[in-house]
Amino acid sequence: MATLRDFTLLTPRAQLDRAFYDKLRESKSRYKPLDRFVIPPFEGRGFLVSKGQSFRVVQEEGVQIGDVCFWNVHDPREMYSLSRTWAIEGWAVRVFTRLWSDVPWLRPLATCIEDTVVTDPSDSEFHHHWLGTHCATEWTEMRVGIPGLNSCHLNFLQAVEPFGLREENIRDNVNLFQKMRPVPGSGKIQAALSESKQGDYIEFYAEIDLLAAVTVCPNGDNTRYYSVPGEDLVRPLAIEIYDTGVQPRDFPRWADWRPAWKGKWMPLES
Ligand SMILES: [Zn+2]
Repeated sequence: MATLRDFTLLTPRAQLDRAFYDKLRESKSRYKPLDRFVIPPFEGRGFLVSKGQSFRVVQEEGVQIGDVCFWNVHDPREMYSLSRTWAIEGWAVRVFTRLWSDVPWLRPLATCIEDTVVTDPSDSEFHHHWLGTHCATEWTEMRVGIPGLNSCHLNFLQAVEPFGLREENIRDNVNLFQKMRPVPGSGKIQAALSESKQGDYIEFYAEIDLLAAVTVCPNGDNTRYYSVPGEDLVRPLAIEIYDTGVQPRDFPRWADWRPAWKGKWMPLES
């Protein structure tokens, strides 16, 4: 058998400071509530979360898929990168998973600090929160042959347009309360009904000043490819924002090779 190599190697200064996050989680009872609002079915909302604040996505009435994405509020070119996060953290989001931006920043934008969903232990290959993409109106038409249906893509657009972002700013995201697993052998993904319950939540700590967007997915509880208003299959999600009272630690800046770039890589002069 070939020698296996850990692909998640990080220098100590880039590693998760476990003691910092343990302390942050232990101080949960002292977080100060700042805001709470409900996102109705078939809609999305954008909201600001300053560094050191956290936000929860809550199952307001019962199981419901939510999609979330993050941007640097001061420079939205810096956004959550599925591919960098996947390579560093793996495909599922658990407590202590960091959501990363791409180069040149390459730093955590947010860190998962709580997840109350209890996954059935007999389904250990399944995860409720994972890195992926969102449903889109074209994709649903491609799957079921019906044009013009609601989708997370449209709901993300509704969420970010008030902040000056456009459709090209919407790429990949994190899927919440959507129980999935990779199928052994094929590697394709398979969906199952979530075990999440009313009141369950996942919480993210803002490492920088963020614009966050959350959509209420028309796939509802993950047993559908789409739904329409009136079927009563899509439930609202609540957003709660807290001041944790704890400022994030500084993250390293990486050496910038761009000013010296001459169209071809050259070794550094010693
Ligand atoms: Zn969706």
